Amino acid sequence: MSNTLYQTEHYISNKPYSGNDGKTGPLFCPETGKQVGNVNFASVEDTKFAIEQAEKAFSGWSETSPVSRARVIYNFRQLMIDEMDNLARIISREHGKTYSDAKGEIQRGIDVVEHACGIPSHLRGENSEIGSSGIEIRSYRFPLGVVASITPFNFPVMVPVWLFVMAIACGNTVVVKPSEKAPTATVRLAELFAQAGLPEGVLNVVNGDKTAVDVLLTDKRVKAIGFVGSTPIANYIYTTGSAHGKRVQAFGSAKNHAIIMPDADIDFVADSLVGAAYGAAGERCMAISMAVTVGQDTANKMVEALVPRIKNLNLGPSMEDGDFGPVISAEHRDRVNGYVDIGVAEGADLVVDGRDFKMTKQGYEDGYYVGASLFDNVTTDMRIYKEEIFGPVLGIARTDNYDEALNLLNGHNCGNGAAIFTQNGKIAQHFVKTAEAGAVGVNVPIPVPLSFFTFGGWKDSAFTAHNMNGQEVVHFYTQTKTATVRFPEVGSEGPAFTIPTFDA
Ligand code: NAD
Repeated sequence: MSNTLYQTEHYISNKPYSGNDGKTGPLFCPETGKQVGNVNFASVEDTKFAIEQAEKAFSGWSETSPVSRARVIYNFRQLMIDEMDNLARIISREHGKTYSDAKGEIQRGIDVVEHACGIPSHLRGENSEIGSSGIEIRSYRFPLGVVASITPFNFPVMVPVWLFVMAIACGNTVVVKPSEKAPTATVRLAELFAQAGLPEGVLNVVNGDKTAVDVLLTDKRVKAIGFVGSTPIANYIYTTGSAHGKRVQAFGSAKNHAIIMPDADIDFVADSLVGAAYGAAGERCMAISMAVTVGQDTANKMVEALVPRIKNLNLGPSMEDGDFGPVISAEHRDRVNGYVDIGVAEGADLVVDGRDFKMTKQGYEDGYYVGASLFDNVTTDMRIYKEEIFGPVLGIARTDNYDEALNLLNGHNCGNGAAIFTQNGKIAQHFVKTAEAGAVGVNVPIPVPLSFFTFGGWKDSAFTAHNMNGQEVVHFYTQTKTATVRFPEVGSEGPAFTIPTFDA
Protein backbone atom coordinates (compact mmCIF):
# COMPACT_ATOMS: atom_id res chain seq x y z
CA MET A 1 0.00 0.00 0.00
CA SER A 2 1.37 3.45 -0.97
CA ASN A 3 2.32 5.93 1.74
CA THR A 4 0.87 8.88 -0.17
CA LEU A 5 -2.17 10.24 1.63
CA TYR A 6 -5.24 10.83 -0.52
CA GLN A 7 -7.64 13.72 -0.02
CA THR A 8 -11.41 13.21 0.01
CA GLU A 9 -13.17 16.45 -0.87
CA HIS A 10 -16.81 17.47 -0.97
CA TYR A 11 -18.71 16.89 -4.21
CA ILE A 12 -21.11 19.67 -5.13
CA SER A 13 -22.90 20.25 -8.43
CA ASN A 14 -21.10 17.32 -10.05
CA LYS A 15 -17.65 18.69 -9.21
CA PRO A 16 -15.13 18.19 -6.42
CA TYR A 17 -15.24 21.12 -4.01
CA SER A 18 -12.55 21.73 -1.44
CA GLY A 19 -14.34 24.12 0.89
CA ASN A 20 -13.41 27.46 2.30
CA ASP A 21 -11.56 27.02 5.58
CA GLY A 22 -9.11 24.15 5.08
CA LYS A 23 -10.29 22.09 8.08
CA THR A 24 -9.67 18.37 7.58
CA GLY A 25 -9.80 15.11 9.53
CA PRO A 26 -7.59 12.01 9.17
CA LEU A 27 -8.76 8.80 7.48
CA PHE A 28 -7.36 5.56 8.89
CA CYS A 29 -7.22 2.09 7.41
CA PRO A 30 -8.53 -0.12 10.26
CA GLU A 31 -6.74 -3.23 8.99
CA THR A 32 -3.27 -1.64 9.28
CA GLY A 33 -3.98 1.13 11.79
CA LYS A 34 -2.23 3.56 9.45
CA GLN A 35 -3.47 6.89 8.22
CA VAL A 36 -4.28 6.64 4.50
CA GLY A 37 -5.90 9.96 3.75
CA ASN A 38 -7.61 13.11 4.91
CA VAL A 39 -11.16 14.29 4.50
CA ASN A 40 -12.23 17.91 4.17
CA PHE A 41 -14.64 19.14 6.85
CA ALA A 42 -17.39 21.44 5.62
CA SER A 43 -17.80 24.83 7.23
CA VAL A 44 -21.18 26.51 7.71
CA GLU A 45 -20.65 28.36 4.40
CA ASP A 46 -19.69 25.17 2.51
CA THR A 47 -22.83 23.42 3.73
CA LYS A 48 -25.01 26.40 2.83
CA PHE A 49 -23.39 26.44 -0.62
CA ALA A 50 -24.35 22.77 -1.12
CA ILE A 51 -27.93 23.52 -0.04
CA GLU A 52 -28.04 26.47 -2.43
CA GLN A 53 -26.89 24.30 -5.35
CA ALA A 54 -29.47 21.65 -4.45
CA GLU A 55 -32.17 24.29 -4.26
CA LYS A 56 -31.26 25.66 -7.68
CA ALA A 57 -31.47 22.17 -9.20
CA PHE A 58 -34.86 21.41 -7.68
CA SER A 59 -37.22 22.96 -10.23
CA GLY A 60 -35.53 21.27 -13.20
CA TRP A 61 -35.29 17.85 -11.54
CA SER A 62 -38.76 17.87 -9.99
CA GLU A 63 -40.25 18.71 -13.39
CA THR A 64 -38.32 15.93 -15.12
CA SER A 65 -40.77 13.10 -15.72
CA PRO A 66 -40.48 10.05 -13.46
CA VAL A 67 -39.73 7.94 -16.55
CA SER A 68 -36.76 10.15 -17.46
CA ARG A 69 -35.57 10.14 -13.84
CA ALA A 70 -35.77 6.34 -13.85
CA ARG A 71 -33.52 6.21 -16.94
CA VAL A 72 -30.76 8.11 -15.12
CA ILE A 73 -31.16 5.84 -12.09
CA TYR A 74 -30.96 2.82 -14.37
CA ASN A 75 -27.65 4.11 -15.80
CA PHE A 76 -26.41 4.63 -12.23
CA ARG A 77 -27.28 1.01 -11.44
CA GLN A 78 -25.09 -0.19 -14.32
CA LEU A 79 -22.18 2.00 -13.22
CA MET A 80 -22.45 0.61 -9.67
CA ILE A 81 -22.26 -2.89 -11.09
CA ASP A 82 -19.27 -2.00 -13.31
CA GLU A 83 -17.54 -0.31 -10.37
CA MET A 84 -18.27 -3.02 -7.78
CA ASP A 85 -14.62 -4.05 -7.26
CA ASN A 86 -13.34 -0.52 -6.83
CA LEU A 87 -16.20 0.46 -4.49
CA ALA A 88 -15.60 -2.70 -2.41
CA ARG A 89 -11.91 -1.82 -2.05
CA ILE A 90 -12.78 1.72 -0.95
CA ILE A 91 -15.23 0.35 1.65
CA SER A 92 -12.75 -2.22 2.95
CA ARG A 93 -9.91 0.30 3.13
CA GLU A 94 -11.82 2.77 5.30
CA HIS A 95 -14.17 0.42 7.14
CA GLY A 96 -12.17 -2.79 7.38
CA LYS A 97 -14.92 -5.27 6.43
CA THR A 98 -13.93 -8.21 4.27
CA TYR A 99 -13.92 -7.75 0.52
CA SER A 100 -16.82 -10.18 -0.05
CA ASP A 101 -18.83 -8.52 2.72
CA ALA A 102 -18.19 -5.13 1.07
CA LYS A 103 -19.44 -6.53 -2.24
CA GLY A 104 -22.52 -7.90 -0.48
CA GLU A 105 -23.18 -4.44 0.92
CA ILE A 106 -22.92 -2.89 -2.55
CA GLN A 107 -25.32 -5.50 -3.90
CA ARG A 108 -27.87 -4.53 -1.20
CA GLY A 109 -27.43 -0.93 -2.39
CA ILE A 110 -28.01 -1.99 -5.99
CA ASP A 111 -31.21 -3.76 -4.87
CA VAL A 112 -32.54 -0.41 -3.66
CA VAL A 113 -31.42 1.33 -6.86
CA GLU A 114 -33.36 -1.30 -8.84
CA HIS A 115 -36.39 -0.66 -6.66
CA ALA A 116 -36.03 3.08 -7.40
CA CYS A 117 -36.00 2.35 -11.17
CA GLY A 118 -39.70 1.51 -10.72
CA ILE A 119 -40.50 5.06 -9.62
CA PRO A 120 -43.03 5.67 -12.42
CA SER A 121 -45.25 3.02 -10.84
CA HIS A 122 -44.35 3.75 -7.19
CA LEU A 123 -45.20 7.42 -7.51
CA ARG A 124 -48.94 7.22 -7.76
CA GLY A 125 -51.81 9.15 -6.29
CA GLU A 126 -55.33 8.02 -5.54
CA ASN A 127 -58.71 8.62 -7.03
CA SER A 128 -62.14 8.67 -5.42
CA GLU A 129 -65.50 9.29 -7.05
CA ILE A 130 -68.32 10.93 -5.16
CA GLY A 131 -71.22 9.03 -6.71
CA SER A 132 -73.98 10.91 -8.50
CA SER A 133 -72.61 14.40 -7.98
CA GLY A 134 -70.10 13.81 -10.79
CA ILE A 135 -67.23 14.96 -8.62
CA GLU A 136 -63.90 13.15 -8.42
CA ILE A 137 -61.22 13.69 -5.82
CA ARG A 138 -57.71 12.91 -6.94
CA SER A 139 -54.44 13.05 -5.11
CA TYR A 140 -51.05 13.70 -6.62
CA ARG A 141 -47.59 13.24 -5.12
CA PHE A 142 -45.05 16.04 -5.29
CA PRO A 143 -41.44 16.07 -4.13
CA LEU A 144 -40.56 18.17 -1.09
CA GLY A 145 -37.50 20.13 -2.26
CA VAL A 146 -34.01 19.82 -0.80
CA VAL A 147 -33.61 16.87 1.55
CA ALA A 148 -30.59 15.85 3.63
CA SER A 149 -29.14 12.42 4.39
CA ILE A 150 -26.79 11.87 7.34
CA THR A 151 -25.17 8.46 7.41
CA PRO A 152 -23.09 6.17 9.71
CA PHE A 153 -19.70 4.55 9.12
CA ASN A 154 -20.82 0.94 9.04
CA PHE A 155 -22.41 0.83 5.56
CA PRO A 156 -20.60 3.49 3.50
CA VAL A 157 -22.48 2.55 0.30
CA MET A 158 -25.73 0.83 1.28
CA VAL A 159 -27.05 3.35 3.80
CA PRO A 160 -26.32 6.49 1.72
CA VAL A 161 -28.02 4.75 -1.22
CA TRP A 162 -31.07 3.93 0.96
CA LEU A 163 -31.34 7.55 1.92
CA PHE A 164 -30.65 9.35 -1.34
CA VAL A 165 -31.82 7.18 -4.22
CA MET A 166 -35.55 7.08 -3.43
CA ALA A 167 -35.45 10.77 -2.47
CA ILE A 168 -33.96 11.56 -5.89
CA ALA A 169 -36.34 9.19 -7.68
CA CYS A 170 -39.26 11.08 -6.09
CA GLY A 171 -37.94 14.32 -7.62
CA ASN A 172 -36.11 15.84 -4.63
CA THR A 173 -32.56 17.12 -4.60
CA VAL A 174 -30.19 15.94 -1.88
CA VAL A 175 -27.28 16.94 0.33
CA VAL A 176 -25.59 13.88 1.90
CA LYS A 177 -23.29 14.07 4.91
CA PRO A 178 -21.52 10.69 5.18
CA SER A 179 -19.58 9.48 8.20
CA GLU A 180 -16.28 11.30 8.55
CA LYS A 181 -14.68 7.90 9.26
CA ALA A 182 -15.56 6.31 5.89
CA PRO A 183 -16.67 9.03 3.47
CA THR A 184 -14.86 8.20 0.21
CA ALA A 185 -17.25 5.55 -1.15
CA THR A 186 -20.17 7.98 -0.88
CA VAL A 187 -18.27 10.62 -2.85
CA ARG A 188 -17.52 7.98 -5.49
CA LEU A 189 -21.25 7.15 -5.71
CA ALA A 190 -22.01 10.82 -6.39
CA GLU A 191 -19.39 10.85 -9.17
CA LEU A 192 -20.97 7.74 -10.70
CA PHE A 193 -24.45 9.27 -10.50
CA ALA A 194 -23.14 12.38 -12.31
CA GLN A 195 -21.63 10.12 -14.97
CA ALA A 196 -25.02 8.42 -15.28
CA GLY A 197 -26.55 11.73 -16.35
CA LEU A 198 -27.80 13.21 -13.07
CA PRO A 199 -28.03 16.99 -13.55
CA GLU A 200 -25.77 19.27 -11.53
CA GLY A 201 -26.91 19.98 -7.98
CA VAL A 202 -29.31 17.01 -7.65
CA LEU A 203 -26.90 15.01 -5.44
CA ASN A 204 -24.29 16.83 -3.36
CA VAL A 205 -21.92 15.44 -0.75
CA VAL A 206 -20.58 17.50 2.13
CA ASN A 207 -18.07 15.85 4.43
CA GLY A 208 -17.42 16.68 8.02
CA ASP A 209 -18.97 16.66 11.44
CA LYS A 210 -21.58 18.34 13.64
CA THR A 211 -20.89 21.74 12.03
CA ALA A 212 -22.30 20.53 8.70
CA VAL A 213 -25.07 18.48 10.34
CA ASP A 214 -26.32 21.44 12.38
CA VAL A 215 -26.67 23.56 9.23
CA LEU A 216 -28.68 20.79 7.57
CA LEU A 217 -30.90 20.52 10.65
CA THR A 218 -31.67 24.21 10.90
CA ASP A 219 -31.56 25.69 7.37
CA LYS A 220 -35.10 26.49 6.23
CA ARG A 221 -34.41 25.33 2.67
CA VAL A 222 -33.96 21.71 3.84
CA LYS A 223 -37.39 20.09 4.00
CA ALA A 224 -36.62 16.59 5.28
CA ILE A 225 -33.84 14.67 6.99
CA GLY A 226 -33.02 10.98 6.71
CA PHE A 227 -30.59 9.86 9.42
CA VAL A 228 -29.04 6.51 10.33
CA GLY A 229 -26.64 6.20 13.27
CA SER A 230 -26.59 5.77 17.04
CA THR A 231 -29.62 6.40 19.28
CA PRO A 232 -28.35 9.50 21.15
CA ILE A 233 -27.54 11.25 17.87
CA ALA A 234 -30.77 9.98 16.26
CA ASN A 235 -32.67 11.55 19.15
CA TYR A 236 -30.80 14.84 18.69
CA ILE A 237 -31.42 14.82 14.92
CA TYR A 238 -35.13 14.09 15.41
CA THR A 239 -35.76 16.73 18.07
CA THR A 240 -33.66 19.46 16.39
CA GLY A 241 -34.85 18.73 12.84
CA SER A 242 -38.53 18.58 13.81
CA ALA A 243 -38.22 21.73 15.94
CA HIS A 244 -37.11 23.40 12.70
CA GLY A 245 -40.17 22.21 10.84
CA LYS A 246 -38.66 19.30 8.93
CA ARG A 247 -39.83 15.76 8.36
CA VAL A 248 -37.32 13.49 10.07
CA GLN A 249 -36.61 9.77 9.90
CA ALA A 250 -33.88 9.01 12.42
CA PHE A 251 -32.83 5.40 12.84
CA GLY A 252 -30.76 4.50 15.88
CA SER A 253 -28.91 1.76 17.70
CA ALA A 254 -29.77 -1.89 18.09
CA LYS A 255 -29.60 -4.80 20.50
CA ASN A 256 -31.08 -7.60 18.45
CA HIS A 257 -32.20 -10.74 20.26
CA ALA A 258 -32.65 -14.25 18.89
CA ILE A 259 -34.83 -16.63 20.90
CA ILE A 260 -33.78 -20.27 20.68
CA MET A 261 -36.57 -22.72 21.46
CA PRO A 262 -35.86 -26.28 22.67
CA ASP A 263 -37.10 -27.71 19.34
CA ALA A 264 -34.63 -25.66 17.23
CA ASP A 265 -31.92 -27.38 15.18
CA ILE A 266 -28.92 -26.43 17.33
CA ASP A 267 -26.26 -26.81 14.61
CA PHE A 268 -28.26 -24.64 12.23
CA VAL A 269 -28.77 -22.03 14.96
CA ALA A 270 -25.08 -22.05 15.87
CA ASP A 271 -24.04 -21.51 12.23
CA SER A 272 -26.62 -18.74 11.86
CA LEU A 273 -25.65 -17.01 15.10
CA VAL A 274 -21.94 -17.07 14.39
CA GLY A 275 -22.54 -15.28 11.07
CA ALA A 276 -25.09 -12.86 12.52
CA ALA A 277 -23.16 -12.00 15.69
CA TYR A 278 -19.56 -11.83 14.46
CA GLY A 279 -19.89 -10.99 10.74
CA ALA A 280 -18.50 -7.52 9.99
CA ALA A 281 -17.01 -7.64 13.53
CA GLY A 282 -20.54 -7.15 14.92
CA GLU A 283 -20.71 -3.67 13.38
CA ARG A 284 -24.09 -4.23 11.76
CA CYS A 285 -27.35 -2.69 12.85
CA MET A 286 -28.98 -6.10 12.30
CA ALA A 287 -26.29 -8.08 14.12
CA ILE A 288 -27.63 -10.51 16.71
CA SER A 289 -25.94 -9.59 19.98
CA MET A 290 -28.18 -11.53 22.42
CA ALA A 291 -29.13 -15.21 22.20
CA VAL A 292 -32.08 -15.92 24.50
CA THR A 293 -32.26 -19.63 25.19
CA VAL A 294 -35.37 -21.40 26.43
CA GLY A 295 -34.57 -24.22 28.88
CA GLN A 296 -31.25 -25.07 30.54
CA ASP A 297 -30.68 -27.98 28.16
CA THR A 298 -31.01 -25.68 25.11
CA ALA A 299 -28.56 -23.22 26.68
CA ASN A 300 -25.99 -25.92 27.43
CA LYS A 301 -26.23 -27.36 23.91
CA MET A 302 -25.97 -23.87 22.45
CA VAL A 303 -22.76 -23.09 24.34
CA GLU A 304 -21.30 -26.43 23.35
CA ALA A 305 -22.09 -25.80 19.66
CA LEU A 306 -20.98 -22.18 19.63
CA VAL A 307 -17.59 -22.43 21.37
CA PRO A 308 -15.67 -24.44 18.71
CA ARG A 309 -17.22 -22.38 15.92
CA ILE A 310 -16.21 -19.12 17.59
CA LYS A 311 -12.71 -20.34 18.31
CA ASN A 312 -12.31 -21.26 14.64
CA LEU A 313 -13.25 -17.83 13.35
CA ASN A 314 -10.60 -16.38 11.13
CA LEU A 315 -9.83 -12.68 11.54
CA GLY A 316 -7.86 -10.94 8.88
CA PRO A 317 -7.38 -8.18 6.37
CA SER A 318 -10.16 -7.60 3.87
CA MET A 319 -8.53 -9.13 0.80
CA GLU A 320 -7.87 -12.42 2.60
CA ASP A 321 -11.62 -12.70 3.05
CA GLY A 322 -11.61 -14.33 6.44
CA ASP A 323 -14.69 -14.36 8.67
CA PHE A 324 -14.37 -10.77 9.77
CA GLY A 325 -11.96 -7.87 9.89
CA PRO A 326 -11.07 -5.12 12.35
CA VAL A 327 -13.44 -2.65 14.01
CA ILE A 328 -13.54 0.94 12.80
CA SER A 329 -11.04 2.68 15.11
CA ALA A 330 -8.55 2.25 17.92
CA GLU A 331 -11.02 3.95 20.32
CA HIS A 332 -13.77 1.56 19.31
CA ARG A 333 -11.45 -1.46 19.77
CA ASP A 334 -10.71 -0.26 23.30
CA ARG A 335 -14.39 0.43 23.93
CA VAL A 336 -15.39 -3.11 22.88
CA ASN A 337 -12.63 -4.68 25.00
CA GLY A 338 -13.76 -2.39 27.82
CA TYR A 339 -17.28 -3.87 27.57
CA VAL A 340 -15.80 -7.36 27.93
CA ASP A 341 -14.05 -6.16 31.13
CA ILE A 342 -17.37 -4.73 32.34
CA GLY A 343 -19.20 -8.00 31.62
CA VAL A 344 -16.65 -9.95 33.67
CA ALA A 345 -16.92 -7.44 36.54
CA GLU A 346 -20.72 -7.65 36.38
CA GLY A 347 -20.58 -11.42 36.88
CA ALA A 348 -21.42 -12.79 33.42
CA ASP A 349 -19.49 -15.96 32.46
CA LEU A 350 -16.90 -15.19 29.79
CA VAL A 351 -16.81 -18.46 27.85
CA VAL A 352 -14.65 -17.20 24.96
CA ASP A 353 -12.36 -14.24 25.61
CA GLY A 354 -11.60 -12.16 22.51
CA ARG A 355 -9.43 -9.68 24.37
CA ASP A 356 -6.39 -11.91 23.98
CA PHE A 357 -6.45 -11.80 20.20
CA LYS A 358 -3.18 -10.57 18.65
CA MET A 359 -2.87 -10.01 14.94
CA THR A 360 0.46 -11.44 13.85
CA LYS A 361 0.18 -11.09 10.08
CA GLN A 362 3.00 -8.90 8.84
CA GLY A 363 1.89 -5.36 8.09
CA TYR A 364 -1.36 -5.73 10.03
CA GLU A 365 -0.04 -5.90 13.61
CA ASP A 366 -1.36 -2.40 14.39
CA GLY A 367 -4.81 -3.01 12.90
CA TYR A 368 -7.87 -2.54 15.11
CA TYR A 369 -8.64 -6.23 15.54
CA VAL A 370 -10.85 -7.50 18.35
CA GLY A 371 -11.27 -11.22 18.90
CA ALA A 372 -14.71 -12.81 19.21
CA SER A 373 -16.12 -13.08 22.75
CA LEU A 374 -19.01 -15.12 24.14
CA PHE A 375 -20.72 -14.46 27.45
CA ASP A 376 -23.09 -16.89 29.14
CA ASN A 377 -25.53 -16.09 31.97
CA VAL A 378 -26.05 -12.46 30.94
CA THR A 379 -28.82 -10.83 32.96
CA THR A 380 -30.95 -7.80 32.18
CA ASP A 381 -29.43 -5.60 34.88
CA MET A 382 -25.97 -5.76 33.27
CA ARG A 383 -24.58 -2.98 31.09
CA ILE A 384 -23.43 -5.57 28.54
CA TYR A 385 -27.13 -6.42 28.17
CA LYS A 386 -28.57 -2.93 28.20
CA GLU A 387 -26.07 -1.14 25.96
CA GLU A 388 -25.14 -1.62 22.32
CA ILE A 389 -21.54 -2.87 22.13
CA PHE A 390 -21.31 -2.86 18.32
CA GLY A 391 -18.46 -5.35 18.30
CA PRO A 392 -17.85 -9.12 18.07
CA VAL A 393 -19.47 -9.98 21.40
CA LEU A 394 -22.44 -12.33 21.78
CA GLY A 395 -24.30 -12.76 25.06
CA ILE A 396 -26.51 -15.66 26.14
CA ALA A 397 -29.43 -14.95 28.47
CA ARG A 398 -30.99 -18.10 29.89
CA THR A 399 -34.77 -18.32 30.36
CA ASP A 400 -37.13 -21.13 31.37
CA ASN A 401 -39.98 -20.68 28.90
CA TYR A 402 -41.11 -18.85 25.77
CA ASP A 403 -43.12 -16.18 27.64
CA GLU A 404 -40.11 -15.28 29.76
CA ALA A 405 -37.88 -15.09 26.65
CA LEU A 406 -40.38 -12.90 24.78
CA ASN A 407 -40.86 -10.58 27.77
CA LEU A 408 -37.11 -10.21 28.08
CA LEU A 409 -36.79 -9.31 24.38
CA ASN A 410 -39.74 -6.90 24.52
CA GLY A 411 -38.37 -5.30 27.68
CA HIS A 412 -35.27 -3.96 25.94
CA ASN A 413 -35.39 -0.33 24.86
CA CYS A 414 -34.12 -1.13 21.33
CA GLY A 415 -36.36 -2.73 18.72
CA ASN A 416 -34.49 -2.92 15.45
CA GLY A 417 -34.57 -6.64 14.65
CA ALA A 418 -35.49 -9.87 16.44
CA ALA A 419 -35.46 -13.53 15.52
CA ILE A 420 -36.75 -16.86 16.74
CA PHE A 421 -35.53 -20.36 15.97
CA THR A 422 -38.25 -22.96 16.34
CA GLN A 423 -40.11 -25.75 14.52
CA ASN A 424 -43.39 -24.80 16.19
CA GLY A 425 -45.70 -22.90 13.81
CA LYS A 426 -47.96 -21.59 16.57
CA ILE A 427 -45.05 -20.08 18.51
CA ALA A 428 -43.54 -18.70 15.30
CA GLN A 429 -46.80 -16.93 14.41
CA HIS A 430 -47.21 -15.59 17.92
CA PHE A 431 -43.63 -14.25 17.81
CA VAL A 432 -44.14 -12.50 14.45
CA LYS A 433 -47.21 -10.72 15.84
CA THR A 434 -45.89 -9.82 19.30
CA ALA A 435 -42.11 -9.29 19.12
CA GLU A 436 -41.49 -5.56 19.48
CA ALA A 437 -39.11 -4.93 16.61
CA GLY A 438 -39.30 -3.39 13.14
CA ALA A 439 -38.04 -6.53 11.38
CA VAL A 440 -38.50 -10.06 12.65
CA GLY A 441 -37.07 -13.36 11.43
CA VAL A 442 -38.30 -16.91 11.88
CA ASN A 443 -35.40 -19.34 11.48
CA VAL A 444 -33.64 -16.43 9.76
CA PRO A 445 -31.18 -14.49 11.90
CA ILE A 446 -31.10 -11.31 9.84
CA PRO A 447 -34.54 -10.52 8.41
CA VAL A 448 -34.71 -9.23 4.84
CA PRO A 449 -36.30 -5.82 4.33
CA LEU A 450 -39.58 -5.37 2.48
CA SER A 451 -39.01 -3.82 -0.96
CA PHE A 452 -35.32 -4.07 -0.05
CA PHE A 453 -35.81 -1.16 2.25
CA THR A 454 -36.84 -1.06 5.86
CA PHE A 455 -34.94 -0.59 9.10
CA GLY A 456 -37.64 1.48 10.62
CA GLY A 457 -36.87 0.02 14.01
CA TRP A 458 -39.26 0.30 16.95
CA LYS A 459 -38.75 2.00 20.31
CA ASP A 460 -35.33 3.69 20.73
CA SER A 461 -34.09 2.22 17.43
CA ALA A 462 -36.01 4.86 15.50
CA PHE A 463 -37.33 8.35 16.06
CA THR A 464 -39.76 8.71 13.22
CA ALA A 465 -43.27 9.58 12.23
CA HIS A 466 -43.55 6.16 10.62
CA ASN A 467 -41.32 3.31 9.49
CA MET A 468 -39.55 3.26 6.14
CA ASN A 469 -41.19 0.19 4.65
CA GLY A 470 -41.84 -0.18 0.94
CA GLN A 471 -44.30 2.46 -0.21
CA GLU A 472 -43.82 4.48 3.01
CA VAL A 473 -40.48 5.64 1.65
CA VAL A 474 -42.30 7.29 -1.23
CA HIS A 475 -44.74 8.84 1.24
CA PHE A 476 -41.88 10.22 3.30
CA TYR A 477 -40.17 11.90 0.34
CA THR A 478 -43.34 13.35 -1.21
CA GLN A 479 -46.25 15.54 -0.22
CA THR A 480 -49.74 15.05 -1.56
CA LYS A 481 -52.09 17.52 -3.17
CA THR A 482 -55.75 16.73 -3.71
CA ALA A 483 -57.79 18.09 -6.57
CA THR A 484 -61.58 18.06 -6.42
CA VAL A 485 -62.79 17.96 -9.99
CA ARG A 486 -66.27 18.39 -11.47
CA PHE A 487 -65.77 17.58 -15.13
CA PRO A 488 -67.39 19.91 -17.60
CA GLU A 489 -70.38 18.43 -19.48
CA VAL A 490 -69.50 16.28 -22.46
CA GLY A 491 -70.03 18.39 -25.59
CA SER A 492 -69.01 21.60 -23.87
CA GLU A 493 -65.46 21.53 -25.31
CA GLY A 494 -64.05 24.82 -26.49
CA PRO A 495 -62.03 25.31 -29.69
CA ALA A 496 -59.82 22.43 -30.90
CA PHE A 497 -56.28 22.34 -29.44
CA THR A 498 -53.18 20.20 -29.85
CA ILE A 499 -52.61 17.53 -27.19
CA PRO A 500 -49.15 18.10 -25.63
CA THR A 501 -46.64 15.28 -26.04
CA PHE A 502 -44.64 13.69 -23.24
CA ASP A 503 -40.91 14.31 -23.08
CA ALA A 504 -38.90 11.38 -24.42
P1 NAD B 1 -23.03 8.03 14.90
O1 NAD B 1 -24.36 8.30 15.50
O2 NAD B 1 -21.82 8.29 15.70
O3 NAD B 1 -22.85 8.90 13.56
C1 NAD B 1 -23.82 8.92 12.54
C2 NAD B 1 -23.72 10.25 11.79
O4 NAD B 1 -24.01 11.32 12.69
C3 NAD B 1 -22.34 10.53 11.20
O5 NAD B 1 -22.49 11.11 9.94
C4 NAD B 1 -21.74 11.51 12.21
O6 NAD B 1 -20.81 12.41 11.62
C5 NAD B 1 -22.94 12.27 12.72
N1 NAD B 1 -22.77 12.75 14.09
C6 NAD B 1 -22.07 12.14 15.08
N2 NAD B 1 -22.14 12.87 16.22
C7 NAD B 1 -22.90 13.94 15.94
C8 NAD B 1 -23.35 15.06 16.72
N3 NAD B 1 -23.02 15.20 18.01
N4 NAD B 1 -24.13 15.98 16.12
C9 NAD B 1 -24.47 15.86 14.83
N5 NAD B 1 -24.08 14.82 14.03
C10 NAD B 1 -23.31 13.87 14.59
O7 NAD B 1 -23.09 6.52 14.38
P2 NAD B 1 -21.89 5.64 13.80
O8 NAD B 1 -20.97 5.28 14.90
O9 NAD B 1 -21.34 6.25 12.57
O10 NAD B 1 -22.71 4.33 13.32
C11 NAD B 1 -22.99 3.24 14.17
C12 NAD B 1 -24.37 3.32 14.74
O11 NAD B 1 -25.34 3.35 13.69
C13 NAD B 1 -24.73 2.11 15.59
O12 NAD B 1 -25.38 2.56 16.76
C14 NAD B 1 -25.69 1.31 14.70
O13 NAD B 1 -26.60 0.50 15.41
C15 NAD B 1 -26.38 2.41 13.97
N6 NAD B 1 -26.99 1.94 12.74
C16 NAD B 1 -28.36 1.84 12.71
C17 NAD B 1 -29.00 1.38 11.56
C18 NAD B 1 -30.50 1.27 11.53
O14 NAD B 1 -31.06 1.00 10.48
N7 NAD B 1 -31.18 1.47 12.64
C19 NAD B 1 -28.23 1.06 10.43
C20 NAD B 1 -26.83 1.20 10.48
C21 NAD B 1 -26.23 1.66 11.65
